[in-house]
Formats: sequence, C-alpha cells, structure tokens
Amino acid sequence: MLVDAHLHLQDQRLDAIRPGLADVLKEKGIAHLVVNGTSMSDWAKVAACAHRFPEVIPSFGIHPWQIETHPKAWLEHLLDCLDTHGGAIGEIGLDRWRCRNNIDTQESVFLEQWNLANARKLPVTVHCLKAWGRLMALIEKNPHQGPGFLLHSYSGPKEMVEDWVALGARFSISGSFAHPRKEKKREVFNIIPRDRLLIETDAPDMALPESAQSCATPRDVDGKTINHPGNLDRVYAFAAQWLDISPLTLEKVVFANFIKMFRPVLHQSREKPGSNTCQPHQG
Ligand SMILES: [Zn+2]
Repeated sequence: MLVDAHLHLQDQRLDAIRPGLADVLKEKGIAHLVVNGTSMSDWAKVAACAHRFPEVIPSFGIHPWQIETHPKAWLEHLLDCLDTHGGAIGEIGLDRWRCRNNIDTQESVFLEQWNLANARKLPVTVHCLKAWGRLMALIEKNPHQGPGFLLHSYSGPKEMVEDWVALGARFSISGSFAHPRKEKKREVFNIIPRDRLLIETDAPDMALPESAQSCATPRDVDGKTINHPGNLDRVYAFAAQWLDISPLTLEKVVFANFIKMFRPVLHQSREKPGSNTCQPHQG
C-alpha cells in the first residue's frame, strides 16, 4: 500500500481530477493521503476532501506564504476545525526565500500552531526554505511532543540531519528531486535514517519530470505542469532507485513510518463539513 505524506487535494487546480480520484486511489493502491490546508480560506475544502475520501487525513494550518492574509480569529477557527474534523497540524513553517520581510510574524504564527500541536500531541507538517537555523532554534526551545513532525520535501543542509533526527523529524521525498538540476540536493536522502523517511507528491506542485509521470494533467494558466496525486507510484519508483532499495522494501518501510507518525489522526470520525465555523473565509 502506498501513502502520500503531503499534498493539497483541496487546491482548485485539482478540481477537475477530484471526480475520478476514487478510482485512481484504488487502482494505484493508495491507502492514505495527508491533505494540507494553507490558510483559513481552504480549511473547509480540506475538511470536505476528508469527508469525501476515506483515505484522506485532513491537516489544518497557516502556511508562511499566507501569513499576511490571515484574519485575526484564525486560532479560534483552527481549534474549531480540529474539534470537528480531527486531523493534524500543517502546513506551517518559515520561509525566508519567498517572504523575507515578515520573519518575526512568521515565527509567532508558527509557534502558536506548533504549541497547539504539542498540547494535543498531534503530528505536524513543516515547510521551511532558507530559514533552517531559525526553525531549529525554535524547535529546540519548544521540543515536539507529538508522534513526529515532517520536514516536507527536505532541502536543508546534510549537516543538520543528525540534530533534526534527535528532535523527532521525519523527511519526505517529492517528485521534484527527480529533476536533473536537483541531483546535488537529493544526496541528503542517502544519509537520512530509513525509519524517518516518507514519500509525498505535494500535488498539484512539485511534479516529476514529465517523462516520469503516470498521470498527466493539463498545464495551469502559467504553463506549469499540474501534478496529479496519482503520480505517487512514480515518486516511489524514483525514490527506490535513488536509494538503491527494492520497491517492495521501500513501500513497507514508508508505510510503517507513516502509520507511526499519523496513527493519532487515522480513522477519526469526521463531522460533515459545514457543521461548524470551519467555513471558507470571505474576503
Ligand atoms: Zn505543500
């Protein structure tokens, strides 16, 4: 069974493929997918995905790219979402690559969500670009108390891996590492302990090279390929080849790692979307 540790099925670029997704999941043997919200405006859609597909684990959070647009009452809404739909915390994080000027706000919003995850002992999914030192300092000061946190599509320094492992991190490989320009970046996965490894599509982003995709979807308005969640099998195939392990071994190892981290939020009963304030934010 395959498991996708990180994607955004609620994204409107995937609206057209959602109706046929149940068949794809069955056909490809995809048992679980962690669908990550990015701002209050998409949490209701995340909840709707979890209600529609039993394979989906919802995850709610404010992404660093969305910090500026979050309304004041976000924390209350986040609590409502978790109380109504269960699920994990994410995608949260720090980004000094795309948003350089609001790192202090990013840190405080990250910490509030991180502390909530700790209080509830929930798994957390973390986005980090060019802010690895600051992220580590925050987590060292506020140790993770749940079943693990995921540094998704890990692009940090090799030298930090040992310390991240000691802090409870998991690391996921996405299809973007299959591009030849990422060859140096992907070397880090060879030193990551196997019991900390996960696989993700990050659909609709982080697509594999087109020649490696099994489920192509049309391009978006900017001409960028839209990554189909059904390409998960090809990310596994790429990872197995790169790590030089058999596909079956990788499948078993990743499945065990996934269950260990997401066990607290598997098989929760989820109320119908719309039954609380976890609604699309207007304006
Ligand atoms: Zn993401």
